[in-house]
Amino acid sequence: MPRIKLRRTIETTISDKPCGYCGGPITLRGSQYKKFCTQKCRYLHLKKLKGRPDLPTGTTGAIAELVVAADLLKNGWSVFRSVSPHAFCDLVACKESVTRKIEVRTGSALFDGSASYSKKIAEHATEFAIYIPETGAILYIGK
Ligand SMILES: [Zn+2]
Repeated sequence: MPRIKLRRTIETTISDKPCGYCGGPITLRGSQYKKFCTQKCRYLHLKKLKGRPDLPTGTTGAIAELVVAADLLKNGWSVFRSVSPHAFCDLVACKESVTRKIEVRTGSALFDGSASYSKKIAEHATEFAIYIPETGAILYIGK
């Protein structure tokens, strides 16, 4: 393996294997088992593996919101979608005296029937709606 010395203290090596996504060189600094040159390459590889189309995140999020909105409409809810991407939640659904403030996330199905999704703060939302593109499933998870 060729060794490269960067600055004075950081010593790195280049892996013999190319990046599993872009084919570029992999810089090894701690782990000797890296398969991708960057976190972005790792993310894009996993996305491709799941068969997800290569769409911008904003588009993926908009699709999830529209699918969840359609599901709520089918079940008799009146649905309102945020005009601003910076609003405190994505959808508001009302039926009789119940109001739900919903944050929509795109997730991945787990073997136990639950889902993995970003739990990034949605302080004022009352629940998450997790859309799984591969199966079309929607999980509503109260906070
Ligand atoms: Zn790469």
